[in-house]
Amino acid sequence: MDFSRVELSAEDEAFRTEVREFLAAVVTEDVIRRDRETGDNFDEGVHLALAAAGYLEKEWKTEADGGFSRVQSRIWQLEKRRAEVPWVTWGTTSMVARSVAKFAQPEIRDDVLRGVFDGTVRLCLGYTEPEGGSDVATCKTRAVRDGSAWIINGSKMFTTGAHNCKYVFLITNTDPDAPKHKSLTMFLVPLDLPGIEIQGIRTVDGDRTNIVYYSDVRVDDKYRMGEVNGGWTVVREPLDAEHGAVAAADDGLADVSIMMHQAGFMVEAADNIAALVGSRATQDTSVGYRLGRSIARIEASLSASSIFGRVALAQTMRDVAPDLMDIAGPAAALPIGAEGGLDDRSEYVYRFAPLVGIYGGTLEVFRNMIAQHVLGLGKPAYAPPRQKVS
Ligand SMILES: Cc1cc2nc3c(=O)[nH]c(=O)nc-3n(C[C@H](O)[C@H](O)[C@H](O)COP(=O)(O)OP(=O)(O)OC[C@H]3O[C@@H](n4cnc5c(N)ncnc54)[C@H](O)[C@@H]3O)c2cc1C
Repeated sequence: MDFSRVELSAEDEAFRTEVREFLAAVVTEDVIRRDRETGDNFDEGVHLALAAAGYLEKEWKTEADGGFSRVQSRIWQLEKRRAEVPWVTWGTTSMVARSVAKFAQPEIRDDVLRGVFDGTVRLCLGYTEPEGGSDVATCKTRAVRDGSAWIINGSKMFTTGAHNCKYVFLITNTDPDAPKHKSLTMFLVPLDLPGIEIQGIRTVDGDRTNIVYYSDVRVDDKYRMGEVNGGWTVVREPLDAEHGAVAAADDGLADVSIMMHQAGFMVEAADNIAALVGSRATQDTSVGYRLGRSIARIEASLSASSIFGRVALAQTMRDVAPDLMDIAGPAAALPIGAEGGLDDRSEYVYRFAPLVGIYGGTLEVFRNMIAQHVLGLGKPAYAPPRQKVS
């Protein structure tokens, strides 16, 4: 990992100024207030403006293909975070668009990608089901062939952004008798088809996600991605990317692990609370100790890479948020913007932390992955220990 400082060229400095000004004009106070109210983590006006300025396409493409340079790409990511651009639906869209480019049938592929770049087509992930999400391959939503189409029945839990998207990247079971990894077929299902019902769910941190019901939904075969029963090949890549199992670029211009964006809220809260307590941190040893411990843990988690970072960040967020709130006192229990509250997000971080340890794979599952695949400890055994026979 390269930790050296990056010297910005005059061109890069100009680019930073340009995007900073652009984002400041587009991501207004109104956008942020509306986003808190809806929990959407998406704003259509902002999204279309980013698309119209060419930023979505440049972010998605490699430099060789006309996208940002590595330095520009880093500047762009950091500036988007500073400006608090609602991010979740572009995150799922850009991830699924990679599978579209690779696996969608030519009949729909180019149209979908064009729409992704002009902002009109957004894509969401339909993996998790009400009965379980950790093992994505245990999928019960059925797709049954019917001439040149498929009939889909089932339901998907936590399809975040579905109400703002045109298609869902849907994992279905097309052969219940086959071994689970050979029973799956992926589709890019238009969300306006008859038989699809989207119901909103608000999570504890205020985010909006959805449960989506599929009742006799007729989908043309042109929306199938990859081979019939070959869905595992299609879904592996985006799953690995979401899980952070792909190596970060080694040039110092990438996040060292996934979830750095989410960790930014924790960093901001710790900075705010440190400023708020001021000299109490040195006068009151309890305050100093808890603040110092929180900051040390945050720094350590920010330097942990790959899947270790994914675990460290989410666990640290869960552990330090209560300390930060305690240090700040009772006003910290009020949400940001509430009368009498602090101008600080530690209360939000407290509510957000459990979710950060669930979506994209739970902390328990990640700990098992580290144990099994990194430390070589073998598969966990969940059966109770056998009774000794005397
Ligand atoms: C805010 C939010 C947004 C989300 N957005 C999306 C989305 O857009 N699309 C989508 O498809 N999904 C989405 N999810 C779902 C998310 O990916 C799942 O919640 C997650 O994978 C866990 O699945 P589950 O909730 O069904 O829990 P389960 O898989 O039922 O697990 C229940 C418990 O058992 C534990 N467990 C399960 N398996 C193991 C194991 N092998 N070893 C040890 N412990 C285990 C888990 O850690 C957990 O504590 C979202 C979830 C949230 C909270």
